[in-house]
Amino acid sequence: MQKDPICGMMVDEKTATLKSEHEGKAFYFCSSGCKAAFDKDPHKHAHH
Ligand SMILES: [Zn+2]
Repeated sequence: MQKDPICGMMVDEKTATLKSEHEGKAFYFCSSGCKAAFDKDPHKHAHH
């Protein structure tokens, strides 16, 4: 399981379809809204 960096929800990376990469690391999202928020400013969300 991976943590959605936007809302903190746990996401199963085996079934997740919403995924982004930042600096070589994969991030998974519970919804397209969370992915959009991450993609808008990945640096902010990936490093807090
Ligand atoms: Zn989320």
